[in-house]
Amino acid sequence: MDGDLRKKVSDLNLKAVLFDMDGVIFNSMPFHAKAWVEAFASVGIEFDEYNAYLREGMTGYATIHEMFIAQKGRMATEAECKKIYAYKCKVFDSFGPAEPIEGIRNVLKTVKDAGLEIFIVTGSGQQSLFDKLEHYFPGVFSEDRMVTAHDVKKGKPDPEPYLMALAKGGLLFDEAIVVENAPQGVTAGVSAGILTVAVNTGILKPEDLLEKGADVLYNDMFEFNEALSDFIELGVKKM
Ligand code: CA
Repeated sequence: MDGDLRKKVSDLNLKAVLFDMDGVIFNSMPFHAKAWVEAFASVGIEFDEYNAYLREGMTGYATIHEMFIAQKGRMATEAECKKIYAYKCKVFDSFGPAEPIEGIRNVLKTVKDAGLEIFIVTGSGQQSLFDKLEHYFPGVFSEDRMVTAHDVKKGKPDPEPYLMALAKGGLLFDEAIVVENAPQGVTAGVSAGILTVAVNTGILKPEDLLEKGADVLYNDMFEFNEALSDFIELGVKKM
């Protein structure tokens, strides 16, 4: 851990870790990306998987309008939005459930063993979200420590979801860290004033995450898990 980060972590009074879900807990981004590429191809819009990763966390309709403006010189109609988004969802669903991200179990165990609280902060609004988490990670998550699409007015990159997690946990800015994989999520964590760890679990360039202000970047969950011992040693204050 470099000196700058050591100083930031030493200044924490670490009590909780706020995890994003897609691309951090579950490896769902490859499916989302492939589904977007197919859906856009069906209306003659060029869109590659890297584009999908850059836009992770944007609403479906915002993504569709952006690409229409860029390539067709106009916004999509409501009917086009509905059709393209339905197509994307159909392809996505055809892949079946996403598996956990490699190494995330080790990370969750390290965090739990250190006595830190674990929060989920996601833009997803799936009804069965908690059941899915419980299925893959029994006893790790709690419904009281989740912020989903149903809780917030403004999603990421707005800081609201992360601020709401702090509020739910009765936590101060320096009592948590954020774990994110996407540019919009990093922006949300940073603008909430929380130390933000980026883990590049997909195909983004490191600068895509660092330019948004991530305090540190790890290439995978194994690297983050190794660094976590420093986070805990320096950040958790003994009473
Ligand atoms: Ca994510």
